[in-house]
Amino acid sequence: MSGQEHEPGRVGIFDADNPPSAERIADCVHCGFCLPTCPTYLLWGEEMDSPRGRIYLMKVGREGTVELDDTFVRHIDQCLGCMACVTACPSGVAYDELIEATRPQLERNHTRSTPDRAFRALVFALFPHRRRVRAASVLGWAWRRSGARALAGRSGLLARLPARLRALDALMPDIRLGELAAAPLPELTPAAGVPRRRVGLLSGCVQQVYFGGVNQATARVLAAEGCDVVTPRGQGCCGALMLHAGREPGARTRAKALIAEFEAAGVDTVVVNAAGCGSSMKEYGRLLAGEPGWAERAAAFSAKVRDVTELLAELEPVAERHPVRARAAYHDACHLAHAQGVRAEPRSVLRAIPGLELVELPDAEICCGSAGIYNLVEPGPAEELGRRKAATVRAATPDLLATGNPGCLLQLRRHLRETAGNGEAELPLLHPVELVDASIRGVDPLAAAVPARTPAWPALAGAGALAVAVAVAVALARRQRWPTL
Ligand code: SF4
Ligand code: SF4
Repeated sequence: MSGQEHEPGRVGIFDADNPPSAERIADCVHCGFCLPTCPTYLLWGEEMDSPRGRIYLMKVGREGTVELDDTFVRHIDQCLGCMACVTACPSGVAYDELIEATRPQLERNHTRSTPDRAFRALVFALFPHRRRVRAASVLGWAWRRSGARALAGRSGLLARLPARLRALDALMPDIRLGELAAAPLPELTPAAGVPRRRVGLLSGCVQQVYFGGVNQATARVLAAEGCDVVTPRGQGCCGALMLHAGREPGARTRAKALIAEFEAAGVDTVVVNAAGCGSSMKEYGRLLAGEPGWAERAAAFSAKVRDVTELLAELEPVAERHPVRARAAYHDACHLAHAQGVRAEPRSVLRAIPGLELVELPDAEICCGSAGIYNLVEPGPAEELGRRKAATVRAATPDLLATGNPGCLLQLRRHLRETAGNGEAELPLLHPVELVDASIRGVDPLAAAVPARTPAWPALAGAGALAVAVAVAVALARRQRWPTL
């Protein structure tokens, strides 16, 4: 029995600030239809790691008949937040609302271990900050290209690192320095011909640094389809990683800043090409519902948010498509398919490309293990899910894989590489909008899809390269004009 239940205003082990709703919990009729789609139940067959079990935990948490201890927190932490259970549930249980009410309770009312706190602090000090991601990428480039990483691998040092740091290392993309120094999108990319829409583009944090080419392709495609594309320079992180990890205060601050930035841009639609970001931006109305002065603005903003494939499916195409002759497997990002219900639009946009054969993957509803920061904080199950998804993709024998989320691209690139057979060619991974862009421009989308691997330098050059990299990282960080939020 929790000692916290008798404190005034508390609801069992939860505080009074938006505990998981009793009505939502009561919607669950325990039928179990959601179980086969839940990745953690699939891995372990453990009831408390299923949607039904987690809802039960929330119920007994409200009743105060369970402790808010490490065991309770583990079962909630191990949920990927993939929302496959929301799609699968015939009773319409809003598990998304339940888990998003529960996670902030854990952050406020449970003290994590010191290593856990330290690692999460590192993740949140880095990824929502574009300048820091860019600076860290320069160090990562030197770590790989100097031969230091290869040396650490051969000496066994890499294998002895904690699992979370190994995951961080393995997920970092091979990035070229030229990409890091590339100029950001202009504030206005004018429409080709008479403008049909004035849209704002979220450039993102990880997206802008690791997948700047996706942003460039998005702006080109939307401009070709008659949109004036505004990319506000002052925009920062949308707060998605924080919102999905239960860090509501930080998510609210970022949501407000982003809303104000796009209001000032005077756009009809806010376009997103990262599923996790789009899903959180569509939730701003709910996130800020209780805040005077923000509730209506947040709801109006959320109503304008569209995934780029949603907008393309909505617009009557005007730009000519040229053939792209390839078999393209499409991977549903959970935050697009389950959280936003966007499944048909990316498929119809891809099917509109002449010559492109769309390949459906079996078990498409099962998460690849990326899930925001999940593959960093829960590397064990994330790796297992990543390997399973890579095997599914490989079995479909596509020429390329398309998916609309940077986290999925990083996760799948890692696991497709790690599970590749000797001499097997690397499968190109693209965002669907890159395929549309290639089709409109009449270029080969596969030419730029596999990052070039420059040869590793001798290990003796490592120390010097790292020193240069630190200097470049500092210089790039100073040169960057965007605010750090
Ligand atoms: S969100 Fe995903 S991992 Fe969490 S309970 Fe639902 S299906 Fe399982
Ligand atoms: S969440 Fe929905 S599908 Fe899962 S057990 Fe409850 S009612 Fe059934």
